[in-house]
Amino acid sequence: MNGIDGKVALVTGAGSGIGRATAVRFAEAGAHVAVADIDTDGGEETVSLIEEMGGEARFYELDVTDETAVESTVGAVVDDFGGLDFAHNNAGIEGTVAPLTEQSLDDWDAVISVNLRGVFCCLKYELAVMADHGGGAIVNTASVAGLVGAAGLSPYYASKHGVAGLTKCAAIEAAEDGIRVNAVCPGVVDTPMVQRFTGGDEAAMEQTVAPQAMKRAASPDEIADAVVYLCSDDASFVTGVPMPVDGGYVAQ
Ligand code: NAD
Repeated sequence: MNGIDGKVALVTGAGSGIGRATAVRFAEAGAHVAVADIDTDGGEETVSLIEEMGGEARFYELDVTDETAVESTVGAVVDDFGGLDFAHNNAGIEGTVAPLTEQSLDDWDAVISVNLRGVFCCLKYELAVMADHGGGAIVNTASVAGLVGAAGLSPYYASKHGVAGLTKCAAIEAAEDGIRVNAVCPGVVDTPMVQRFTGGDEAAMEQTVAPQAMKRAASPDEIADAVVYLCSDDASFVTGVPMPVDGGYVAQ
């Protein structure tokens, strides 16, 4: 990918799944990677993976719902690496599977807090820093759940529709500062999040991937490739796009 080598990338939720895969992909492309997660063990493991392949990474313990912590983490990344060129706002939780009438307000608050407030907090400070440093590119992790509806996970779907909307607004506001903002909308990806849904059961996984034309889950690397592409110079005229990476889920 063009324009990644030597740059600085911050990835939230980088201690597992899609975030870890993106952190590794950024490092493979020559970026210095700030690995942020609420999970210290997972984050440190991602840093080790990157260091073992000769890349440069540093772990930042971060709860993305905490505005003050987000502000100081973004500041620390700039101090430690000399700038911030790319961000992947990816930390997320799934909530509880239940009809809307049985969802608790506590679960609603938790899901909206991590998935939507978290992305808002990150955007707020990343955009300010990038504007001061001559531009950059940001990718938020939305989901096919940000493009269509479904039964059983209404807080999650609402949060991801919010991420898609926030992405468009941020892209419009930041364009004049030389910052592009996009989102990836993955379908089913084989990560610990999906394993929690399926309980590792093959029949449950088959049922989960059934709405995808390709009838399989993506690997985290397939989402990471899309994120790094959207940050690269190869996507220099792409902004404000919630991009499906979904094996044909929303095409149907
Ligand atoms: P995952 O559970 O493997 O990873 C999520 C990471 O986010 C974990 O490391 C977790 O510690 C971190 N995290 C959770 N709350 C946090 C907080 N408050 N602050 C900082 N970090 C926090 O899940 P994943 O599948 O890799 O999911 C990553 C993103 O992709 C999420 O936003 C998810 O909604 C989205 N997504 C996943 C799928 C899928 O099928 N796996 C599909 C579409 C979208």
